[in-house]
Amino acid sequence: YGDYNQKIDYVFKVVLIGDSAVGKTQLLARFSRNQFNVDSKATIGVEFQTKTLIIDNKTVKAQIWDTAGQERYRAVTSAYYRGAVGAMLVYDMTKRQSFDHMSRWLEELRGHADTNIVIMLIGNKCDLGTLKAVPTEDAQEFAQRENLFFMETSALESTNVETAFLTILTEIYRLIS
Ligand code: GDP
Repeated sequence: YGDYNQKIDYVFKVVLIGDSAVGKTQLLARFSRNQFNVDSKATIGVEFQTKTLIIDNKTVKAQIWDTAGQERYRAVTSAYYRGAVGAMLVYDMTKRQSFDHMSRWLEELRGHADTNIVIMLIGNKCDLGTLKAVPTEDAQEFAQRENLFFMETSALESTNVETAFLTILTEIYRLIS
């Protein structure tokens, strides 16, 4: 730990996409810094966080990009997708509309990204179970049909966040190694 000369074997760019307010920024904060910020978001503009981890004895630097609000103006640019080897399509499981928009996001992603990109569907805010508006089976069915990994998470309670990122990063590693 704290070895700044650590050799990096791989850098994997992963992009977060989905409607505004589904929890993309908090998922990233949880994964990269183990934080959850109650009053989130100030800046507009593309931002990323990195986290270095070991997969199969290799040092992998995950570079996770957050739209930082651009999606509100439907202004996510092709530069955002450039070089991405993974994508997390995030919806809010208490907001049906954010799930219904997943096919649009997927279309946009497939239009911009590399064909081999690994994609994971994320139903976030599973801590709000009683307000659930998207049945797990609906999401599973969509994921299966579109060939996506799928997981339900809570950035607030830390549920499955680490597992989701590790799963996608390990899958990317498997594909390229
Ligand atoms: P973004 O616009 O997709 O980046 O969404 P944010 O990360 O800014 O989150 C939008 C709102 O949802 C904020 O008020 C967050 O506090 C809240 N939020 C994010 N993740 C969760 C979660 O897992 N559970 C709950 N209950 N709220 C969350």
